[in-house]
Amino acid sequence: MEIKKGIAVSPGIAIAKALVIDAEDYRIPRRSIKPSQRMMEIRRARNAFKDAVGELTRLEAIQDETEEGKIKDIFAVHLRFLRDRSLRKKITDLVHSQSVTAEYAVSATLREIAAHFSKVKDAYISERAADIYDIERRLLKQLLGKKREDVEHLTEEVAVVARELSPTQTAGFNKEFVKGLATDAGGRTSHTAIVARSLGIPAVMALENLTDDIGEADLVIIDGNRGIVIVKPDEQTIRQYQEYEREFVELEHKLDAIKEKPAVTRDGVKITLLGNIEFPEEAESVLQKGGEGIGLYRTEFLYLNTTSEPTEDDHYQAYAETVGVFKHRPVIIRTVDLGADKYTQSKRFAPEPNPFLGLRSIRFCLQNLMMFKTQLHAILRASVLGEVKIMFPLVTSLQELMQAKLILRDVMEDLDEESIAYNKNIHVGIMIETPSAALTAATLARDVDFFSIGTNDLTQYTLAVDRGNELVSTLYSSADPAVLRLIRTVIQDAHKAQIDLHVCGEMASEPEYIMLLLGMGVRTMSLAPPMIPEIKQIIRSVTMEDCNNVARKILGMNSERQISNYLRDAARKVLPEVF
Ligand code: PEP
Ligand code: MG
Repeated sequence: MEIKKGIAVSPGIAIAKALVIDAEDYRIPRRSIKPSQRMMEIRRARNAFKDAVGELTRLEAIQDETEEGKIKDIFAVHLRFLRDRSLRKKITDLVHSQSVTAEYAVSATLREIAAHFSKVKDAYISERAADIYDIERRLLKQLLGKKREDVEHLTEEVAVVARELSPTQTAGFNKEFVKGLATDAGGRTSHTAIVARSLGIPAVMALENLTDDIGEADLVIIDGNRGIVIVKPDEQTIRQYQEYEREFVELEHKLDAIKEKPAVTRDGVKITLLGNIEFPEEAESVLQKGGEGIGLYRTEFLYLNTTSEPTEDDHYQAYAETVGVFKHRPVIIRTVDLGADKYTQSKRFAPEPNPFLGLRSIRFCLQNLMMFKTQLHAILRASVLGEVKIMFPLVTSLQELMQAKLILRDVMEDLDEESIAYNKNIHVGIMIETPSAALTAATLARDVDFFSIGTNDLTQYTLAVDRGNELVSTLYSSADPAVLRLIRTVIQDAHKAQIDLHVCGEMASEPEYIMLLLGMGVRTMSLAPPMIPEIKQIIRSVTMEDCNNVARKILGMNSERQISNYLRDAARKVLPEVF
């Protein structure tokens, strides 16, 4: 039994067999399998060879002879290797004799050959090492690609273990079979973590080298409450965790029972709880959990699971479906927030050197006007169906806001010309998620109807800590005094300007921050749907006087550690069963 400590990113407990998804661009660790799985792995290895030969043959056939036959020659050499029976036998023998995965056998065998080649003095032969690595990658691509497809067609319960998972990959998991997630990389507010939380799949991230230490189909426990993964647990630990799981489900049922009750503090202050969604189908779960509308619809997910750009009608259908669930309650549609860890990097010809500071969010939209206008057109059309609001992400300056609003006006004029109905008084807001926006909030407030504080990015940009990088995850904290001072400024400026103020970053989903946010003056929060009952329970257990005291105390503190400890203790007193 081995216990690994990471970051708890999505609550709940999963006990299931590991399904390990290796990554082609990382070393493939030696992963043992049970003797009964050997035949299946050998079959996988043989199929990978067959498919790689098929792929190369097709590529060779379409190569132009005029290139002096160079490319054709390279492919011919690769094909000769792939057709070599002794190579194939060496790999399948390794799977058989050492009970290892097909991926490991392919990688270990080919790397050994490559190492051998590179030591040869003859330059022609030593350069062949590069070809062997190329062949290794091609075979791994076949093996890993198939496995990724298999994850979409699971028939038994698994815990997915990977070095890294993309938000899109995670969004495609079938909740019925994927019981938990554990990754080496990632952080609490990475988009993959956000998707896991939205789907309600227990997850732990930042486990650093979990994928090296796990065998295929090993039993694992993923404890998304404490941030722990236990590999090959003993009988006693399994029983203990089955008990934890039962208690957790019981607590969830208990909390679900308050669904119909209002989110009011003990001294009668009403708080509005909205939901964050990535897909229209999630709107229903916000309603189920007692949410009063959508405070953040991350529409970029419309782009993330398709290969072609969504049409205006795709946008419209998605918005109409969401608004249909909430009728006359607010649905805040955030315009696409692509870039950084979402979509554009994988599709870019040349990846950006620093994508989180690059062409993302509203900047990306302002440089891709056709795409931006298509989305605005669809949002405006949907605006007559309910209480739709528009929100621009990652605004960093007044000029950027003005540009975005100008384009919105253009699109409104287009709709007027086409005689298409839309809400002419649609509310327009911005996310405050950069220090520059927070520091100029008083100015920005004059031109918008609401602010929504995106604490995930605001924390990242204030502290200069990548929100998805496990190497700096201990430095990432919204309880840092610098972050809290910026949040306070934004709240005060919104109140002075008499515009609505929401918090939609993960801070609003974290129980220990609730008293502080209320004490600082927040009255509307938007959060991951599964967290709504728990947060509501906290709100119903406190008085505004308690919250004001917490805020006053915290804002006088100068250390993140001191603030975090104080917040945890205060929350524990209010709701001991949750902490
Ligand atoms: C945020 O940055 O806090 C936010 C809510 O937006 P996202 O997590 O989608 O970047
Ligand atoms: Mg953000």
